[in-house]
Amino acid sequence: MRYFGTMNNNNGTLEIGGISVKKLAQKYKTPLYIIDQQLVEDNILNYKNNFKSNLFETEIVYASKAFLSKGICQLLSKYDLSIDAVSAGELYTIKSSDFPMHKVHMHGNNKTIEELKMCLDYNIGSVILDNVEEFNLLNKICEEINKNMDVMLRLNIGIDAHTHEYIKTSKHSSKFGESIFGDKVIDTIKKISDSKHLNLLGFHCHIGSQIFDTKAFLEGIEVMIKFLKKTSETLNIKIPEINLGGGFGVYYTEEDVEIDIKSFMQEMIKHIEKISQKENVNLEKVTIEPGRSIIANAGSTLYSVGYTKETFSGLKYVFIDGGMSDNIRPALYQAKYEAVVANKLNDPLTETVTIAGKCCESGDLIIKDCHLAKTDFNDLILVASTGAYGYSMSNNYNKLVRPAVVFVKDSKAQLSIKRETFEDLIKNDLPLENL
Ligand SMILES: *Cc1c(COP(=O)(O)O)cnc(C)c1O
Repeated sequence: MRYFGTMNNNNGTLEIGGISVKKLAQKYKTPLYIIDQQLVEDNILNYKNNFKSNLFETEIVYASKAFLSKGICQLLSKYDLSIDAVSAGELYTIKSSDFPMHKVHMHGNNKTIEELKMCLDYNIGSVILDNVEEFNLLNKICEEINKNMDVMLRLNIGIDAHTHEYIKTSKHSSKFGESIFGDKVIDTIKKISDSKHLNLLGFHCHIGSQIFDTKAFLEGIEVMIKFLKKTSETLNIKIPEINLGGGFGVYYTEEDVEIDIKSFMQEMIKHIEKISQKENVNLEKVTIEPGRSIIANAGSTLYSVGYTKETFSGLKYVFIDGGMSDNIRPALYQAKYEAVVANKLNDPLTETVTIAGKCCESGDLIIKDCHLAKTDFNDLILVASTGAYGYSMSNNYNKLVRPAVVFVKDSKAQLSIKRETFEDLIKNDLPLENL
């Protein structure tokens, strides 16, 4: 397993943030999400220090769906980052952390009236409009209450980059944004720019997640700048900003050649400067929206080993006290991870096992064919890089309670999200009156 951030082997036991995972397990029980706070802060600074230009302002917006808690909002606020939301629940969570709401940007392809009103009520920074119907609705609400809002328009730019390569064929069927290839888009942009209540800042795109092919991003930049130029000339309007989304790929296993954020942010900036100068486009601001690449490697999940089993077919299982309820990604889309026996780091990796959870689904596997030290009952297994889309996709299947989240730094641990209780499991559950 690759070590990240402050992970350290202290006499065979893994430490994170200077604290032994054995101590964390004793104090907070397992399963437990552990966030290496120093690594989160380093990742934030890596973006801040390298995604900047002398020609235009830059903004870094953390994509909150990767992992959202009051604690992460406080950390982002400490470094002056912005944050996005895609639902009323995310907006509410962000607001509850006292985050400066003018640095919140609202996404989503189907925002409800309630959500749009909440954006206005909270005075957030901007709404990224997905389509013309949404424009009509937001415009009408703004007229009714005589309020203004900054907006961007999300574009489908025909680059659909999902995993290892980007595909330019499935581009037209995405549910997000307005396609730049139709004629409709110009009418939509004209409507927005004519609105008295909505102020069109510019265009947004997000071409996918866990992308390794940096060419896809560079090509996206060119498409965005050229489209901005064409549109502002056609409509004779000024469009000062672009937002290029997130999706920078990270390391989970040896199959992944992650994007080096420092050098790629510098490369992106140079590319944006070059293309905008070449096209004679005067950009005032460029925004990016990293989620996974800020939090994935900073988070790990600590489990206790229960039983082991060798099946008739010869497959060896190690069972852990969590599973698809705290990490659904392997079951959902065959996501891969690395793990160690965190209290036996110096033991040889003699075993090839499947780490399986305790949920009632055969697909409740966390890692297949994992090379581990030989385990005993109550050993600790740490699965690395679960910080993104782990807690945020967690669920109560089989009425398992969501684990706690603890932030560690400088040999101190802070409980950031409490473990759910049985009471939490039934707090919204009402007995029937009529039987
Ligand atoms: C999910 C998402 C992101 C972040 O993607 P990551 O792969 O986590 O970096 C950014 N922008 C938008 C609009 C998104 O939907």
